[in-house]
Amino acid sequence: TLLVTGASGQLGRGVIHHLLDTLKVSPARIIATTRNPANLADLAARGIAIRRADFDDTASLVEAFTGADRVLIISTDELALQGKRLKQHQTAVAAAKTAGVSHLLYTSMPNPEPGSPVLFAGDHYGTEQAIKASGIPYTIFRNGWYQENLFMSLPHAIASGQWYTSAADGRIAHGARDDMAAAIAAGLASGATESTTYTLTGPQAHTVAEIAALVTDVTGKPIEVIQLSDEALTEGLKAAGVPEGFAPIIVSFDTNTRSGRINMVTDTIETLSGKKPQPLKQFLEANKAVLA
Ligand code: NDP
Repeated sequence: TLLVTGASGQLGRGVIHHLLDTLKVSPARIIATTRNPANLADLAARGIAIRRADFDDTASLVEAFTGADRVLIISTDELALQGKRLKQHQTAVAAAKTAGVSHLLYTSMPNPEPGSPVLFAGDHYGTEQAIKASGIPYTIFRNGWYQENLFMSLPHAIASGQWYTSAADGRIAHGARDDMAAAIAAGLASGATESTTYTLTGPQAHTVAEIAALVTDVTGKPIEVIQLSDEALTEGLKAAGVPEGFAPIIVSFDTNTRSGRINMVTDTIETLSGKKPQPLKQFLEANKAVLA
């Protein structure tokens, strides 16, 4: 059996969709977990077993993982609480060990090693270390940034005509969340038993200026990219009403981009899923109405 945590989330739902509809895995072989089983009534109706699991509750995780062969741990969304998320993931890895899981899969981030400017990188690095220390064979998916993350910054940039950044000429190869879900589903459904770390990215790496130019191409709206220092960007975000705890996280992404730690392009999505990953321009065209 294949088990997916975070199955109610956007990535988890995508993974389950690809297991069922793309890879034609029998629902009888799939287990989905959530803190609130009522959220997954639609998947239960399709014949998937739903189990309750809370990453803050060891016993619930051991019970949920018992009998599952391959377990995908989707990282939780408690970003602003550094430390809490790592503890949740460590609890899940320990539960997988106790439950006798044969293969562990995990959604990490590119280049999470110490020295990463990304404020929550330590959660991912620490989880990777815990997985390796557990002795359970593993597949780590270091997911690059989703194209969908641009829903956070682009509407404001398009409306105001200005995009404030401290990323300088750093590049990002944003990938479609659904393409990552397809690749992860393929890795989960495969019988691969060797331990592997993959980095999943979109097909092309762009600078902020290049992304702005693509957006202008698609929407017809001019965007001026304004390069700031990290400090000035932090102050600007706060002044614009971004919550106190969140501004430093956003700025840490730009620092990371500027340092070249997220500029890689891999063909892993296509290798795993057999599908060419969606280029950024196609994402922008498909979401033009929402963004502009
Ligand atoms: P969502 O916010 O849609 O889903 C998060 C999931 O985490 C939910 O299904 C929720 O399950 C689960 N979860 C949170 N806390 C707990 C807990 N204590 N116990 C059990 N489950 C918990 O996120 P996405 O699907 O969009 O993204 C998945 C993950 O990918 C994120 O959590 C984040 O770590 C990462 N991410 C990566 C990005 C990138 O660009 N690479 C961008 C955004 C996120 P439920 O409520 O049903 O219990």
